[in-house]
Amino acid sequence: MLREANPTQAEPAIRNNTTTRPGSRESSRGLGMERDITRRDFLNATLLASGGLLLTPASPLELLQARGASNLNDDWTGYGGVGDYANSNGNTTAILEAGHQIRDGMFESLPPSLIDSHETYDCVIVGGGISGLAAALIFQRQAGPGKTCLVLDNHPIFSGEAKRNEFLVDGHRLVAHQGSAFYPVPYPRSFIGRFYESIGLKTPRLEYQNWGGPAPQMPLSRTPYLGSAPYGLFFGAKFGQTEGLWLTDPWGKKLEGAPISAKARNELLKFQSAGNAGAQGPQYAGDAISRRLDAITLEAHMIERHGISRETIRTFLSPVEGGGYGLGPDALSGYTAYAADMLHPLDISDETGQQMFPDGNGSLARLITKTLIPESIAGEDSLEDVCRNAVNLAALDRPSAATRVRLDSTAVWVKHDGDPAKSEFVTIAYTRGGKTYRVTARSVVMAGGSWTTRHIVRDLPQDHKTAYSQFYRAPCMMANVAVRNWWFLYKMGISGCQWFEGLGNYMQVHKLATCGAHAPTISPRLADGPHHQSSVFLPRPAHRTTGPGGACGDDCDSVPRIRTPNPSAIHRHVCPL
Ligand SMILES: Cc1cc2nc3c(=O)[nH]c(=O)nc-3n(C[C@H](O)[C@H](O)[C@H](O)COP(=O)(O)OP(=O)(O)OC[C@H]3O[C@@H](n4cnc5c(N)ncnc54)[C@H](O)[C@@H]3O)c2cc1C
Repeated sequence: MLREANPTQAEPAIRNNTTTRPGSRESSRGLGMERDITRRDFLNATLLASGGLLLTPASPLELLQARGASNLNDDWTGYGGVGDYANSNGNTTAILEAGHQIRDGMFESLPPSLIDSHETYDCVIVGGGISGLAAALIFQRQAGPGKTCLVLDNHPIFSGEAKRNEFLVDGHRLVAHQGSAFYPVPYPRSFIGRFYESIGLKTPRLEYQNWGGPAPQMPLSRTPYLGSAPYGLFFGAKFGQTEGLWLTDPWGKKLEGAPISAKARNELLKFQSAGNAGAQGPQYAGDAISRRLDAITLEAHMIERHGISRETIRTFLSPVEGGGYGLGPDALSGYTAYAADMLHPLDISDETGQQMFPDGNGSLARLITKTLIPESIAGEDSLEDVCRNAVNLAALDRPSAATRVRLDSTAVWVKHDGDPAKSEFVTIAYTRGGKTYRVTARSVVMAGGSWTTRHIVRDLPQDHKTAYSQFYRAPCMMANVAVRNWWFLYKMGISGCQWFEGLGNYMQVHKLATCGAHAPTISPRLADGPHHQSSVFLPRPAHRTTGPGGACGDDCDSVPRIRTPNPSAIHRHVCPL
């Protein structure tokens, strides 16, 4: 059945930040601004580039070449770092091409060259992200001994969106998340709480790096997201500040000194201080409030709830309020404001709630995989071992194992054998190394994402197809930047910042959980402790990104919303175009 990341010698770095005028020719050359920039340069070489910025005026490409990086001829894929995830830096060219073959209809019918593996599983799971891996574990536990399960994933490593990247900088191995970052603390005996415990996450709160060095301690965030640690706002040319203007402690100063209108200031202060008081949020997914919220945009809901203008939302709040979804609030459902709360975590606060492994939820995927296939990651069942030790790729897909994870395998065809209502078997075809293979299963779980599922499952019911066609995929880019020091930020009293123009939106230096951190302490200066901190820079798409090729514009709210039968399942739909 088919179911469904020095300044003792502080001076050089500070010099770079104080005596080189932003935008000057020297500064531009140091940044490699006169060169062409490729997706690879930006997506994958940002870490190298920042290191180079502090030391030598080399371009990302030169840094890559100096390191003998592979993939130099591949502008799409680029450098992926080191370690288990080095070849899995986002969607590589190979993944992209396999996906386009599906999109372009190359597998409308099974190819004559199909190789029958003669393998039959009790369950095949398409997608080796957290969902697929968790499904495999639950299957393993509930189906009982002797039952077999195969997880297919198109990447060279499992984890899906919750992958990590590892980089070697001055001999230090830095770990950072690719996409998925924090997890909220669940109630102890909740489903998620029990699941975490069962995969070895015995206490949901992690230990983090301590402050190092003589400089007075500054509170630091545990995640790349702004909120709990002191941050500043930067205003540039868009606000008439050609040299740039920093506002630190913006909320303590009540935005005094910000080059914005009085109206925008008042509205931002109102929004910032709102909290949850008086919020008419849903009690449970699907109740009347959630259905109403799902029928209006997030932007409309913000206007209604906070009494703030569309202009303020679009100028200052858009990328963050909608950013995690890659779309702006003008396109997202109002329900998104509460969707995460509807998971009913015990604690989602910045102060104690949000927890993060050094590689984000990559470690959750590793914990699940280690539980599924104990030999898959060397060492004990401890958090440290699972976070630090290498993946034993050979152990993932052993013929004798009841549960197998097969990588570099793109499912291209899934169909019941005969009438879906009566069929006992499902055929799954997948491509690997240029060949197409067939396996059979008694049940299939599609955990690869609706944007591929609808092209792969050949006998998907029409209502599923219609529902899936309402989803859009939008780009949302995160970049990890290794810095040898962040003394210049520390001297300003901040560890993160936000800006409102150009590429990106905010960045945050954050401390790491010690289970996988390269050092037990974090300090702003090279001389005071370990050499590197990992910080995160989050470029986000601008607001009004409403789906392929279009924006709703000011009339967005007059466009009928797509209603969703189950708001908990579908909360990121967009305006019909
Ligand atoms: C930028 C970003 C930041 C996020 N931050 C957070 C956060 O801080 N905290 C949080 O809790 N959540 C966060 N999320 C959400 C969270 O990461 C996802 O909900 C979760 O990782 C999804 O897991 P998944 O297994 O459902 O899907 P995915 O992780 O997408 O896994 C699906 C896997 O299936 C593969 N696949 C797809 N099609 C096929 C095919 N045909 N054949 C074989 N394999 C296929 C994919 O390549 C992928 O490896 C974030 C998401 C994004 C995008």
